[in-house]
Amino acid sequence: MKKRIVVLGSTGSIGRATLDVIEQHRDTMEVYGLACRENTGLFSAQIKKFKPTYACLFDAARAGKVEFRGAKKLTGPEGMKELARVDADMIVNALPGSIGLEPTLEALKGGRRLALANKESLVMAGRVIRKLLKKGRAGLIPVDSEHSALYQLLNCIEPSELQSLTLTASGGPFRKHTKAQLRMVSSDEAMKHPTWNMGKKITLDSATLANKGLEVIEARWLFDIEPEHIKVLVHPESIVHGIAELRDGSLLAYLAYPDMRVPISFALNEGVRTQLPFGKVDLARLTSLSFAHPDQRRFPALRLAYEALAIGDSAQIVYNASNEVAATAFMEGRIRFTDIPRLMEEALNRHAAVPKIEDVEEIVNIHHWTVRYVEGRLRRSRG
Ligand code: MG
Repeated sequence: MKKRIVVLGSTGSIGRATLDVIEQHRDTMEVYGLACRENTGLFSAQIKKFKPTYACLFDAARAGKVEFRGAKKLTGPEGMKELARVDADMIVNALPGSIGLEPTLEALKGGRRLALANKESLVMAGRVIRKLLKKGRAGLIPVDSEHSALYQLLNCIEPSELQSLTLTASGGPFRKHTKAQLRMVSSDEAMKHPTWNMGKKITLDSATLANKGLEVIEARWLFDIEPEHIKVLVHPESIVHGIAELRDGSLLAYLAYPDMRVPISFALNEGVRTQLPFGKVDLARLTSLSFAHPDQRRFPALRLAYEALAIGDSAQIVYNASNEVAATAFMEGRIRFTDIPRLMEEALNRHAAVPKIEDVEEIVNIHHWTVRYVEGRLRRSRG
């Protein structure tokens, strides 16, 4: 029997890459369910092509524009939760941002195997997710390229041998900008990522380094490692994705072409590497591989992630939510690029800190408090 796969967020860049990988493995995998937020045109085309058993449109008001054909029609947040619970062999969560949290929790509660690209789930509810994984039949395998790299490296070493983990960052399009230049950048400029071709939110997050901040928090929960043992290096070529530093001072690094289909295929095959028609690294053709420490003064979002980890669980929720609201405001031309980390820092300083949170309702409440707080600040600064 073929492996039945549900893809949440199928019209985004990770979702489309996932369908591409499933097509490469069509003898062993099939699309069991598809879900997207609002791109009804592409969604209808995907339903026609992959003939899923289930299809869910998050934006219920637009459901009339989707041709569901033979698929069971689901809509809204409830539909998304239902789809995360169906009897699939693997759920791929590639939803962008905080809307990915509930499907992640549903899939794990239902004992499903989850391929997680939605890093925000772990940032918001890392402690809850770890608990679910400990007690249940559920499994989680990361899709984020850096975390896929580190996951593979950690499988090769004993926990006692590990000194630290390093996530690499391309540095984004403004790597060499001065502080004054950063103040003036436009949303169009922020959308020009040097090495990866991705969705809008993650592309902007890569430019502010908030993406790397989210990934540091993601790594803390995914690998149950203390923040002081998680490091970040800027590596503009995006060939080395993760590095494990060992007790004897040596390093193990994972190298791959910057193509998301490599980590997606590894996750869908549950840790088995198969032949892919793309993504070979030719070291002789690379002129250089360079590394540098990130500048946390020009890119404060990375520093704030470590601060959020030091404060505790509530601060990580605030970090994510304030970034989401501020990033949207920047894309809409309402604030400057440098206002994004400024608003994040303000929200972090203002919130009521709670070190440990195991209650999902409390997570959602802190998320909504932060959204209201940052939106309030945006209104006041305009008025
Ligand atoms: Mg990444």
